[in-house]
Amino acid sequence: MVDCLLKGNPHLDCIYVDSMLGWLARMLRILFGAPVVYSAELKDAELAETECFVVTRDKDLFRRRRGPTLLIATDDHVKWVAAFLKMGLRPFAKSACPVCGGTLVEVSCEEAERAVGHKIRSHRCWRCVSCGRFYWVGSHWRGLRRLVEEAEKTTVDCLDIG
Ligand SMILES: [Zn+2]
Repeated sequence: MVDCLLKGNPHLDCIYVDSMLGWLARMLRILFGAPVVYSAELKDAELAETECFVVTRDKDLFRRRRGPTLLIATDDHVKWVAAFLKMGLRPFAKSACPVCGGTLVEVSCEEAERAVGHKIRSHRCWRCVSCGRFYWVGSHWRGLRRLVEEAEKTTVDCLDIG
């Protein structure tokens, strides 16, 4: 069994991620700044018809789709990230808010500390312009770096069915 099946020309102008892949939606935003549409309320009909690139675990949806679609068949999260690295996405080139997909702007860490109400041991801090959440380089960020390093070493078997 392959790890994933790809059909159509994947483009990264907009990516619909189905409701079973919330973790991946957050990763695509924070690691790649990808324009991800993700919501538990996305309707099957909308996912079936959109011209955006659709990422799904649903075999029936994959079969019904005409536009570009990636079917993920593995539970291995590292391989999920590896599949996108293989498509040419560059990690950490840009970033979006993992929660809402909003743009992150760099702010002073003093501002972030005042907002979150505790000390932040980081020299770089960001605020999401859409939801107002703050982010900084901390243990979570180092975890993301390790994830990408692991994904870069991982082979993912993604079958392109054209
Ligand atoms: Zn946000």
